[in-house]
Amino acid sequence: TVSEYEIETVDVVEDVGEDEGPAPVVAVVGRPNVGKSTLVNRILGRREAVVEDVPGVTRDRVAYDATWSGRRFTVVDTGGWLPDASGLAAAIAEQARLAVELADVVMFVVDATVGATDVDEAVVEILRGSGKPVVLVANKVDDIGAEADAAGLWSLGIGEPHPVSALHGRGSGDLLDAVLEALPQEAPAETFGDTGGPRRVALLGRPNVGKSSLLNKLAGENRAVVDAVAGTTRDPVDEMIELGGKTWRFIDTAGIRRRHRENQGADFYATLRTQSALERAEVAVVLVDADEPLAEQDLRIISMVIDSGRALVVAYNKWDLLDEERRHYLEREIDRQLHNARWAPRVNVSAKTGRHMEKLVPGIETALEGWSTRVPTSKLNQFFADLVNSHPHPVRGGKQPRVLFATQAGVRPPRFVLFTSGFLEEGYRRFIERRLREEFGFAGTPLDIAMKIRE
Ligand code: GDP
Ligand code: GDP
Repeated sequence: TVSEYEIETVDVVEDVGEDEGPAPVVAVVGRPNVGKSTLVNRILGRREAVVEDVPGVTRDRVAYDATWSGRRFTVVDTGGWLPDASGLAAAIAEQARLAVELADVVMFVVDATVGATDVDEAVVEILRGSGKPVVLVANKVDDIGAEADAAGLWSLGIGEPHPVSALHGRGSGDLLDAVLEALPQEAPAETFGDTGGPRRVALLGRPNVGKSSLLNKLAGENRAVVDAVAGTTRDPVDEMIELGGKTWRFIDTAGIRRRHRENQGADFYATLRTQSALERAEVAVVLVDADEPLAEQDLRIISMVIDSGRALVVAYNKWDLLDEERRHYLEREIDRQLHNARWAPRVNVSAKTGRHMEKLVPGIETALEGWSTRVPTSKLNQFFADLVNSHPHPVRGGKQPRVLFATQAGVRPPRFVLFTSGFLEEGYRRFIERRLREEFGFAGTPLDIAMKIRE
């Protein structure tokens, strides 16, 4: 089943602002054991623990939000991928190619105490050919004596080695400065919202649900302006498609079109792509094969969208294949399994016949609208006053926590902060979310509800 949508409980609410664009992506590449995950932890200041490697299991989460000198970026740890039968060298090469494709900047990590290996040199070839900015990290330089090891990495011919001790933190500030310098300039035109360019849509779904068929249908019938993105280096893999009289930016369509290359054991790639696409998107259209039972992977993708705070539309594809019985069963399945995304607009389409393709855009627009909805504080507090009166929190241990007041801290997605006189239990928080939706809409958007408890 879907992992439950967690209502965050935090003490400190950081307002990241409403109109910031998607963060640039920094991918960390290197052989096993050179210190990639240690470095990622260091960059994150250990605010988020990187999940330990479990042999044979790929990490679910590989992308993390980071900030340095006030600049936001997303760190992608490619080390979560475990080499398969095709061998270490090939695996690292594939990892490097993927990183190059996804990232704005590549951090290439080498163990300075070992020096450059053949595999490292093979990676350099790939990185150099890509034209992407590369920051060479000479890791495990724990003291000044090891600086000479770092200098030896000039021989790789990919620029200045930055001596760092990911373990102890030595040199990490200078390294991050170098990374910031390599990031693309902030492009105000690409910020979220109605002010900037086309809205950004990620087309997601497990293999064979019909993503490329849908894309072809949409692009084919609506004159894809594929070259419109040629001028930007930021998102070379996006496609501009005109639908319903507007231009939309479909994120990472190259990934959808090229999927065949990376078919085997592609779970990690799929997760990485989904996450990376979500980082850039405002709204996700998750495609599901209506003719098959909902799969674990469908539910996981939907959860990823919810966790990412993006707007969500669920599209049931292959509707042309459904018979009466399956249709009946499908409704019950949705009711049972998709209860945490019940608020998402739903469209029943067929990429094959073109059925209901025209309903896609209204669904996306509804979701984007919900995603940007702001409730005036006065209305919000009237709402909570009524709610607390009519449905007070159950008494627990002689105490009855109350919502004292609430504010909406932001939109995209709507974020609320509840100031309370005690801890609100799970069921009550769910109730609040349900009632907020009934009252104010929020179709197609996750809600982020935080509590500030006043003791
Ligand atoms: P990954 O496989 O590239 O993600 O590497 P890990 O981050 O798991 O690190 C591999 C090993 O190297 C671990 O035992 C780390 O503690 C160690 N390590 C990582 N960075 C440093 C460093 O800067 N100095 C030293 N001495 N050890 C390090
Ligand atoms: P992707 O892996 O998600 O990109 O899926 P594809 O677009 O490659 O589609 C997988 C298979 O499903 C192909 O054989 C398509 O022809 C088929 N397919 C896609 N959409 C539909 C649909 O709406 N109806 C039917 N009957 N088949 C479809």
